[in-house]
Amino acid sequence: MASNSNTVEKTTPEVDISGQVESFSIATAPSEDHAHHHHKHHLLHKYNESGETAEDDDHDDACCPRSPVTFGPSPAVEKSHGLTRLLKNNRAWSKAIRERQPDFFEKCSKGQQPKVFWIGCSDSRVPENELLQLAPGEVFTHRNIANVVVGTDLNCLSVLQYAVDVLKVEHVVVCGHYGCGGVAAALGDSSFGLIDHWLGNIKQVKQEHLSNLNEIKDTEEKCRALVEINCRNSVLTVAKTPTMRAAWERGQNVEIIGMVYDIQTGLLGELGYHIKSMDDLQSHLKVDSNALFAARASKAATA
Ligand SMILES: [Zn+2]
Repeated sequence: MASNSNTVEKTTPEVDISGQVESFSIATAPSEDHAHHHHKHHLLHKYNESGETAEDDDHDDACCPRSPVTFGPSPAVEKSHGLTRLLKNNRAWSKAIRERQPDFFEKCSKGQQPKVFWIGCSDSRVPENELLQLAPGEVFTHRNIANVVVGTDLNCLSVLQYAVDVLKVEHVVVCGHYGCGGVAAALGDSSFGLIDHWLGNIKQVKQEHLSNLNEIKDTEEKCRALVEINCRNSVLTVAKTPTMRAAWERGQNVEIIGMVYDIQTGLLGELGYHIKSMDDLQSHLKVDSNALFAARASKAATA
């Protein structure tokens, strides 16, 4: 998939079985030629071992600020998770950004124009701003356990509608992640109390693909497969919403993209779902469970 690994990439692969083969792969590395590549670490230098020594070697004010959320813990703050530490972190963060771009928060206060709407897992290891290297104001977010999208969730669907109708985002990213506890729980038979209701959504996806999932003997691999299938299900559910249908009918440029994040490498991979019309959705709906898993197995064999 070469350099097609950026979330905001607009090229759309053909929707066919070979596309599905392509789909279950993890990007090897972030694209080196991305326009913002040079800037993505410039705030990382803000806090180093000596405290507040900034190294503005690649500072470029013409570029939007990259990742003010990413500069690591200041050595000055306590190691505990107490409120003191959190407040100190926050003050240091705000100060660092204002030093870099004095009018940043003033601009922020005037409104938001994010191009990306992210639907992800609540898992603390999958922080979308951080891993996308996007600043406050650049990604609109909905997160829940195991990035489940269901047609009865007024919360998620309201965020989607606002993102598409009002903010006019161009990319709706549904991101699953390997090592997802919610998916693992749905794969097992244990009861976890109230959350069982929520996990029932994933269990239903599991049930639809049960025979193919059971072919996979390795538990971890089986879990990875369900992570991918669960993400696919959320992508398709988003695509079926009245919000998306209406947006496409009025010619709005908005694409749904399925991705998976690997917490072992920090890399995002595409799952091969680039849906920007009802026709795209129909093409994906035609791919049945057997074809999906055959494509996945074939991809694994050539990897
Ligand atoms: Zn998760």
